[in-house]
Amino acid sequence: MVRPTVARVDLTAIQRNYRNIAAHLAAEAAARPFDDARGRADRALAPGLIAVVKANAYGHGAAQVARALEAAGADLLACADIEEGATLRAAGVRAEILVFGALSVSDLDGVFDGRLTPTISTPGAARAVQAAAAKYRQRLPYHLKIDTGMNRLGFRFDNLRRTLPGLLASPNLELAAVYTHFATADDPESGLFERQRLRFARALAEIDAMRGPGAPPLAAPAESLRPGRRPYVHACNSAALLRDSRVWYDRVRPGLLMYGIVPPPMASTIEIAPAIGVHSRIVAVKGVREGESAGYGAAFVAASPATIAIVPAGYADGLDLRLGGRGAVLIRGRRAPIVGSVCMDMLAADVTGLDVSPGDEVVIIGAQGSDRIDVREIAAQIGTIPYEILCRIGTRIERVY
Ligand SMILES: *Cc1c(COP(=O)(O)O)cnc(C)c1O
Repeated sequence: MVRPTVARVDLTAIQRNYRNIAAHLAAEAAARPFDDARGRADRALAPGLIAVVKANAYGHGAAQVARALEAAGADLLACADIEEGATLRAAGVRAEILVFGALSVSDLDGVFDGRLTPTISTPGAARAVQAAAAKYRQRLPYHLKIDTGMNRLGFRFDNLRRTLPGLLASPNLELAAVYTHFATADDPESGLFERQRLRFARALAEIDAMRGPGAPPLAAPAESLRPGRRPYVHACNSAALLRDSRVWYDRVRPGLLMYGIVPPPMASTIEIAPAIGVHSRIVAVKGVREGESAGYGAAFVAASPATIAIVPAGYADGLDLRLGGRGAVLIRGRRAPIVGSVCMDMLAADVTGLDVSPGDEVVIIGAQGSDRIDVREIAAQIGTIPYEILCRIGTRIERVY
């Protein structure tokens, strides 16, 4: 059984976006001028990707998206927690899976059961993961997270000599990568991005010094990055990778961009396309007389005789209440304003003057005719970010691939 309101997910769009981002990075890296931070040998090497599929792949469906990305060549996926990693493994994903989030130290078995790569971001987590790896008699690769100013997760950049030695000396843990996360990559006015960039570069040098002269340096040119040669380095979310190629390092971690959306207010020349559309059908058409209201709170009052179409999608499907009076849907290729209050299971659209009938297609997100309503537009209408619009597309809405 399929409800009238469905989300259509175009997996080939996500695969194309993934490949086009990779191709863009390769072309730019090949043309990149001499970069004194990484050395001349870095020039021709394009950064790899970490395909971010956390939060049910930004609402697109983690299992299907992860398998599609794997088929497109993704060798490293990232999710938010151990549970998400387990879901990906259960879906048959074989690629390496990085867990970004803090680990619940009481449940580290999931790391080993799911062959997940944990992020270690505190000395306490370091001790717990070391103990668990010793119990499993494994040498576990991990990513080390440095907090350069986000002040969320990670070892503080200015305290590493005190906090890191225990982790670096852990006999059952192997440093696979070092990373950080930018707080303001999407804000061109903010100076914090540049401060974080410099702090991270210093942190890498400091970690090199702590790892000793025998260890291949993190700050070395990427040319020495053959499997097992040295830990690799990553820092970029979508906005950072669009903003500054100096922080591409060895891999980048696009999320939103891979789903075909440029994080506002950034712009990009990379050829990407949105991959999800939300479609429904009109279930009723009503005439409203002048002066009459419609819906809860009588929020919509017809100034003149109006026709409204009832669409079976509401806030229980993730549609924001603030869309009432602000947003629109596409019906017969035209914009029909969302009027009145969005209900739990329904909304009303003003279709006055349009020739509509029950059963007609309604596009809530996506294209119809020559018009398109995208998540950037919806986010701007209600004062939020596209990420939230995508992640809130309700679980009640069936994804059709
Ligand atoms: C979510 C996330 C990303 C991806 O961010 P986008 O802005 O969607 O590209 C990258 N890195 C980390 C650590 C994240 O949590």
